[in-house]
Amino acid sequence: MKILISNDDGYRARGIRVLRESLQGLAELTVVAPDRNKSGAGHSLTLDVPVRVGKVEPGVFFVTGTPTDCVHLAISGLFDFDHDMVVSGINDGENLGDDVLYSGTVAAAIEGRFLGLPTVAISQCRPPLSAEPRFETAGHVARLIVAKLLREPLDRAMILNVNVPDRSISELRGIVATRLGYRHRSEAAIKAADPRGRPVYWIGPSGAGADAGPGTDFGAVADGFVSVTPLQVDLTRHTALPELTGWLGALEP
Ligand code: MN
Repeated sequence: MKILISNDDGYRARGIRVLRESLQGLAELTVVAPDRNKSGAGHSLTLDVPVRVGKVEPGVFFVTGTPTDCVHLAISGLFDFDHDMVVSGINDGENLGDDVLYSGTVAAAIEGRFLGLPTVAISQCRPPLSAEPRFETAGHVARLIVAKLLREPLDRAMILNVNVPDRSISELRGIVATRLGYRHRSEAAIKAADPRGRPVYWIGPSGAGADAGPGTDFGAVADGFVSVTPLQVDLTRHTALPELTGWLGALEP
């Protein structure tokens, strides 16, 4: 059994080190992660320049690219063996609701969707910026979930998006299946000036949870539960197909 580990915070991040330690002994582990923090990279591939791969130590590699580059390379050409699943994280910060569209952590997991087992993205909700995230809590949860997947596999097309509340292991109230909630609109971009007086912008922080009640990923972590959301790649709005078919019917090419 071979597990590929990646992330979007970069190969030096504490979260990916804790993840690797946590999964030790469950399978053969290989780390392929970006050379720097690529949070917010979404599902982007680097196509305009070549990417380089460096070996940090046996079984740990960095790529001068995005999280998707890392997993894509790792499962299509970098190695002379196949992986069975991808585990991505542990992200420094939550990936709830709309976050999954921007998240490099989730994108890395999605990129492993053609492998034999479901892939897992795992994120540790943060305390205030002054404090350290409790990666050991997410590490404990990652081991539980991966061990269960190895014992009792789920449909391999499933991507599990796991968010762990900012609590110690003993304070966790449970592990529950959730749906994605969604956020209010992001806060406005922040305008500043460069040293020559030209305007620059900082993308503003994401909005608070809007659909964040019972049954959602937001609701679960707020109540102290580990949230596990099953994701799929098909973005089709299936319920809209009849209406759209009728609406298009009057249009002549
Ligand atoms: Mn990140």
